[in-house]
Amino acid sequence: MNVLVVNAGSSSLKYQLLDTDTREVFAKGNCERIGSEMGIFGHSENGGTKQTEEVPFPDHRSAIARVLEELEKTDFTIDGIGHRIVQGGWHFDDSAVVDDEVMAKILEVAPLAPLHNYGEAAAIEYCREKYPELPNVAVFDTSFHMTMPEVAYTYALPKDVCDKYHVRKYGAHGTSHRYVSARCAELMGKPIEELKLISCHMGNGSSICAIDGGKCVDTSMGFTPLVGLPMGTRCGDLDAGVIQFIMNKYGISIDEMLNILNKKSGVLGVSGVSSDFRDLDAAAAEGNDRAQLALDMFHYWVAKVVGSYVAAMNGVDAIIFTAGVGENSKSSRAAIAEYFGYLGVKIDPVANSKRGEDIMISTPDSKVKVFVIPTNEELVIARDTKAICG
Ligand code: AMP
Repeated sequence: MNVLVVNAGSSSLKYQLLDTDTREVFAKGNCERIGSEMGIFGHSENGGTKQTEEVPFPDHRSAIARVLEELEKTDFTIDGIGHRIVQGGWHFDDSAVVDDEVMAKILEVAPLAPLHNYGEAAAIEYCREKYPELPNVAVFDTSFHMTMPEVAYTYALPKDVCDKYHVRKYGAHGTSHRYVSARCAELMGKPIEELKLISCHMGNGSSICAIDGGKCVDTSMGFTPLVGLPMGTRCGDLDAGVIQFIMNKYGISIDEMLNILNKKSGVLGVSGVSSDFRDLDAAAAEGNDRAQLALDMFHYWVAKVVGSYVAAMNGVDAIIFTAGVGENSKSSRAAIAEYFGYLGVKIDPVANSKRGEDIMISTPDSKVKVFVIPTNEELVIARDTKAICG
């Protein structure tokens, strides 16, 4: 089945047209700077060079319209469209074929992820109008986390307030955690039902997930993707008292404060250098102490959260690294694994220096196994689309 996977971000829209059986990618590309005066459209076919052009994208509708227009120029067929939806809220514990009722629920929970769900809903709406005969499937980043027990997802706030407004931990990156944990079980040659896994999705946004028997039992992101680890530009866990203190000191509004917490904090804020780990590695190598501190803090936090999930699951069989930093930074993986001595983890430096493949980077005698597994959220979305309506 040929599925068009649409991944609409807050100001971007990525897409891939792929065959779910052969995994062949026929076309892919992205629309950047949606909502700005001028945007960029990039498109490539059959693994060829990406062609880019400047196109204004006032909104997500105009972006998906441009994508479909480009695909119509080709001979590729589309049998279904799979959409990544960041927030499924309390409504979705699985992927769903989009009908009017599902659309209404996606919009109902949109205030929980306003920067994402509205744009994603606009893209779905356009696809439904343009190709009413094609199925659209919504795949939610949060649905994998809906198996968390109440003890893990409940905030220690007045319960009636939380219940009334659905305030709880929802998590994020669920599609990625689901993919790499299933793949890890395959690589280990064991049924996932028998495994305790901890998946570390470390990219520009980062989250860790505890997966017991194939089900998420805890994750580090929360009601929003702001918490947990320090990230590229997001602060991660923070004492709420700091928010009021800084707002009062600088006389700024809550929106301005949230802008700082989302866009000017994390490893960027600590280092003052960059949100990109490649820049931090380079700066730290040249003796920049703040860049080194940002890296050290990130590694420490990953190790600390992993440790808490070992406790929560009463053990772990394997730890997985994925996403931009997890897949590419051998120095970050090695620094984090240094903390895992108590688990009997031993890293094979040769395996740890490989890139771009599914690989076990722990030694054969390592008590707990460690894997690097490149994530593939598009494939999960495409496969779900096929499973539901193929
Ligand atoms: P993602 O959000 O998964 O696309 O990850 C993007 C991030 O991965 C970038 O901002 C970088 O910090 C990081 N990254 C990508 N390549 C490397 C690399 N070779 N070494 C260290 N970090 C990398």
